[in-house]
Amino acid sequence: MAVFRDRLRKRGLKPASQRDDVALTFFKLGRHISAEELYAEVKKVNPHAGQATIYRTLRLLKECELVHERYFSNGKGRYEIVNDKDPRHRFICDRCGRIIEFQNARLERIRFAVARELGVLLGRQKIELYGICPRCLKDERRHNPAIRLFQNPQTRRCAPAS
Ligand SMILES: [Zn+2]
Repeated sequence: MAVFRDRLRKRGLKPASQRDDVALTFFKLGRHISAEELYAEVKKVNPHAGQATIYRTLRLLKECELVHERYFSNGKGRYEIVNDKDPRHRFICDRCGRIIEFQNARLERIRFAVARELGVLLGRQKIELYGICPRCLKDERRHNPAIRLFQNPQTRRCAPAS
């Protein structure tokens, strides 16, 4: 929050209580929130806050590089706090926009192997996988029982090609 105030000051913007309420609520909630969800939360803190303030504040946070906006196939944007110190990878559901963060030791080893092969020094990293999340997959199976793929990744390994 202090960083946000500082960056606003540098842009010559004065503090505004509604904007602060929006930013504070956003930072408190943390990750992956849509503007509508944020609006509902801010309303609880400040019933006078308008939707325009929500969008304006999110845009400012984005311009100050404190927030990322991500778009999904349904055209809806979701916002998340920029956090380079904690490089987690993400799986993003194309259907509902749900984000599953993950870390994977094997993936880390592969990263280093690739870096060695390329002769590069690794810096920032972000791996994003897209697909259908377990919840949406369950729905999908209900409508289309033929889909049995990836139902149990523990036992259903790919058979080696013969
Ligand atoms: Zn989903």
